[in-house]
Amino acid sequence: MEINKLLTFLACPYCNNQDLKLISPKKLTCPKCSQSYPIINNIPVLINKKNLDPQEKKQTIWFDKHYSQFKDKNQLENWRISMLNRIFKQKFSKKIKTYLDIGCGATGYTVIEAAKQNNWLSFGVDISLEAMIKSQHFAEIQNVGSKTAFVVSSAQNLPFKKNIFDYISAISLLEHLEDDKKAINQIKYILKKNKFLYICVPNTYLKIWPFIWPFYYFNDIKIGHKRHYSIKQLNKLLKEFNFQLKTNFYNGHLIKFLQLFLEKTSIISNKLWWKIEKIDINNNSTGVQLNAIYQKK
Ligand SMILES: [Zn+2]
Repeated sequence: MEINKLLTFLACPYCNNQDLKLISPKKLTCPKCSQSYPIINNIPVLINKKNLDPQEKKQTIWFDKHYSQFKDKNQLENWRISMLNRIFKQKFSKKIKTYLDIGCGATGYTVIEAAKQNNWLSFGVDISLEAMIKSQHFAEIQNVGSKTAFVVSSAQNLPFKKNIFDYISAISLLEHLEDDKKAINQIKYILKKNKFLYICVPNTYLKIWPFIWPFYYFNDIKIGHKRHYSIKQLNKLLKEFNFQLKTNFYNGHLIKFLQLFLEKTSIISNKLWWKIEKIDINNNSTGVQLNAIYQKK
């Protein structure tokens, strides 16, 4: 997306001034708080490093390193297609025009496919510059550069104007944040009234099979998860900011492990993969991932 078009959506992440100025091709400034932001490889970096909390600083280093090793993939893996189906195939999807994925990572697949499949004007943010440069590159290769934009930002200080998005997703995001409340408050600010938020988080330990706990635990430490959520905890958090639960479901039940095992041994057909996937996504609360859609009231 052209920087001047992107600017119509951006705001200062720290003082909420709705009007950032482009003072050179490589620099934005906020006239109100005098903060300036670099534009690196056409990506606005709307972060002041001094304002990041210790968790964000750690996660920036971890993810920049993680994504620097990331290799280009020509095809969407099945699990990503499944995630996209969950986000896109909702009753309200036809009315969406503007979409934001927070923590969209280095493939930018949610943002790219939202533009490609649904023709939504699509935005992606991530705390990793490495991720945003790669995502933008993939968007251009796939000819959706003009319908997508990528911005480096903290989820706790989102750099967008008030009430501009029709749909926001936060996939595997909240569990990484020190202050999930602050992020939900920011989402509330930039999402239009009566519009939708898709959340995917790790389900509470209490609901999943104990034999999975050690894997869950080591993964949490490795990638810096601060917590897991039960649907009750998630509802409590969202209710505080006037979000109402529309639907919720789980994935990653025991059958998923059969699918993963068969995948590892390469003896699974595509048809069987999708058959198992369909069975796996349901309302049984023993799945490792909790998905929920909320509406801003
Ligand atoms: Zn400012």
